[in-house]
Amino acid sequence: ERFRHDYLEVRGLRVEFDGFVAVDGVDLTVTQGDLRFLIGPNGAGKTTIVDAITGLARCSGSVQFGRVELVGKPAHQIVRAGVGRTFQTASVFDELSVLQNLDIAAGSRRGLPTLLRRRRSVPEEVEQALETIGLTALADSPAGVLAHGQKQWLEIGMLLVQDAHLLLLDEPVAGMSHAEREQTGLLLQRIGEQRTVVVVEHDMEFLRTFASSVTVLHQGRVLSEGTVAQVQADPKVVEVYLGR
Ligand code: ADP
Repeated sequence: ERFRHDYLEVRGLRVEFDGFVAVDGVDLTVTQGDLRFLIGPNGAGKTTIVDAITGLARCSGSVQFGRVELVGKPAHQIVRAGVGRTFQTASVFDELSVLQNLDIAAGSRRGLPTLLRRRRSVPEEVEQALETIGLTALADSPAGVLAHGQKQWLEIGMLLVQDAHLLLLDEPVAGMSHAEREQTGLLLQRIGEQRTVVVVEHDMEFLRTFASSVTVLHQGRVLSEGTVAQVQADPKVVEVYLGR
């Protein structure tokens, strides 16, 4: 059971920008098999938490993944510890094929010049990722011709082949059609069965359909946590979302 301990455990996370406390003592535990959504009003600290976990924002406190302490480690070591993230705008190489994008991502883990590989020697994990993200038929198409949703899936596939076991996704369905949202939700559910997935998302319909648990942030703190039904019924959440 190699991945049994692949849970995220954040304790007392704190991020300060020039005296402004953007993340103020956040605790967060996300286990494998959980599809956790982080929500909260603009400025609540969601992106900063992701930045802190991935080594892009200086922080204090503790962030453990698979029992490895990440706080204080440089970003590239955090990637090596199995942590991957996406941004709101997909960053794929438009001129390269879907397969080549995945191959490069896989190679960044192995340190091999994989770009020159022949099609027939596609590594197993790349083949598998292609199938998981539903882009097998487009393997040889340039990433630049992909639809917006497909690019996001490719980026997620790149995290899979990089062997990320904690995936932090920043608004993955922003700008997607309804059909793309559904497919993305199903994709994240599938990935969440074997990996730890944390999604920053505003789209409430998407959240209601796919979240297995929700953490609501407000002013840098955890305001509420639980199932969708539990946080929706929490008077503190209702107040923050409706009471202004
Ligand atoms: P969210 O993702 O929930 O909308 P953010 O994490 O982006 O919130 O921001 C949390 C707070 O931290 C906001 O008040 C924002 O203005 C502030 N903040 C974020 N990044 C920086 C930065 N680099 N320098 C100064 N303040 C920042």
